[in-house]
Amino acid sequence: MEAPFEYTINRKRIKNLRLTVKAPHGEVVVSAPRHVPVSTISAFVADKAAWIAKHRERLAGQPQPLAAGPEAEALRSTLKTNVPPLMEYWAQVMGVPMPTIAIRRMKTRWGTCNTTTKRVTLNLELARRDPSLLEYVIVHELAHLIERGHNARFYSVMDEHLPDWKHRRRVLNGTAAS
Ligand SMILES: [Zn+2]
Repeated sequence: MEAPFEYTINRKRIKNLRLTVKAPHGEVVVSAPRHVPVSTISAFVADKAAWIAKHRERLAGQPQPLAAGPEAEALRSTLKTNVPPLMEYWAQVMGVPMPTIAIRRMKTRWGTCNTTTKRVTLNLELARRDPSLLEYVIVHELAHLIERGHNARFYSVMDEHLPDWKHRRRVLNGTAAS
């Protein structure tokens, strides 16, 4: 059976076939023991087609590393304008101190919150997403100033302030339509 995906074979001293879908572009790599024929590898990849498609879909929803350059700078200045009023609004509504704001290119996170220094870092990529998703990330990071962990208390803070936060998270992570 012909595999429906392009893939790279890495011959290794291992016992079993192993398949990896690599971030950020979803390249498929199969690590294979030296003696396993290509036909077996091809069948193995074909067998995993649904799994590969699902992983690629998930990767497509992940933040893509933006290259530094004029586009990134334009996006940064958009966020520098849009974020402070939104952050101020939500900090007041949620009763938390206004944090300092940093905007960075990040590969795996949409935002982070340092609860000690009260610093919220946002992924530059958010400038290219719907404003409702930026708002979701802001409320999420501010909620950490109330509760550090992702626990029941944290989620009840989210429910209280942004009742549709689960939908926004699904859209942000590429598992739902906007
Ligand atoms: Zn969090």
